[in-house]
Amino acid sequence: YELTSSDYYFSSYSHFGIHEEMLKDDVRTSTYMHAIQDNPHLFRGKVVLDVGCGTGILSLFAARAGAAKVYAVECSRIIEQARAIVRLNHYEHVIELFECRVEELQLPIDPQSGQEMQVDVIVSEWMGYFLFYESMLESVLYARDKWLRPGTGLMFPDQATLYLCAIEDAAYRRDKIDFWDSVYGFDFSCIKRIALTEPLVDYVDAEQVNTTACPILRVDVGRVTRDALDWSVRFRLTATRNDFVHALVAYFDIAFTHCHRPLGFSTGPAAKSSHWKQTVFYLDQALIMNAGEAIEGTLACRRNASNPRDLDIGLSYRFRGKKMSARNTLRYRLR
Ligand code: SAH
Repeated sequence: YELTSSDYYFSSYSHFGIHEEMLKDDVRTSTYMHAIQDNPHLFRGKVVLDVGCGTGILSLFAARAGAAKVYAVECSRIIEQARAIVRLNHYEHVIELFECRVEELQLPIDPQSGQEMQVDVIVSEWMGYFLFYESMLESVLYARDKWLRPGTGLMFPDQATLYLCAIEDAAYRRDKIDFWDSVYGFDFSCIKRIALTEPLVDYVDAEQVNTTACPILRVDVGRVTRDALDWSVRFRLTATRNDFVHALVAYFDIAFTHCHRPLGFSTGPAAKSSHWKQTVFYLDQALIMNAGEAIEGTLACRRNASNPRDLDIGLSYRFRGKKMSARNTLRYRLR
């Protein structure tokens, strides 16, 4: 199963609605704006590549920051709007749009080298739910390895960190999982088993978090290779109070560390909310934890073999507390 250009061309990204949601996500869009526009010394006179430009917003930021040339590539139909927007804002002399997958892109030939142009900065908003869901990171790495100027080229953003913590979530778990035990008095528990395997993308209240947060994975966008996109990592979460743990929660932070003053944003429960929300993995049972006790385990993620858009996620945990002990290996599918 390979994604083709037409899968994207007619995908949800071709409608303005999804772009409206992203543009209005102020945590996301204004961080990109500040990262780019507040650092004109990194953009003035430079060549920039925008991977998956959508409506063209990041290209416009780069043009406004003084870029000499911005190559913007987009494979969905929204590119028609990007083209009109670039013209409406009089940047057609700076921003050049390419309608294709980045994997099919050919940049103009550099007269000096006789090779395709190299770029000084790659800007892209590639992050998906749980960082990696439907993520275009692989396409961004392809662009980096093909066109980014070796040594001096910069990735915007250049760091992503995935975190794991645990939450109390009795009420919502009852509503989403235990609900299936008795639906108008009937046993629907076959669906309960499926519901348990599907991570929930939703907002978690910061007050529900009752363990430390463990940074489980750091993606250095300038260096990471594509095989690092399938991973398995160990974690240890220590309870910060006596409480029940119903689920583990994953979220990520993004950083632009090349900026004059490093900046970024978090999609965690304590941060201002973004359209990425958080990703909730319900455990098979509630854990009774005392403050200071720890859950240890392994979280693993890889793209599903038959549908690479889907993620197979494995969670093994061990808990030995004063009031109970538990261990299990659970499998989830983010689809
Ligand atoms: N940069 C825009 C849009 C981000 S959404 C913004 O910040 O608002 C990601 C966009 O990348 C989508 O429009 C999607 O169609 C496009 N995209 C995904 N994979 C791509 C690929 N391989 N080549 C080109 N564009 C891609």
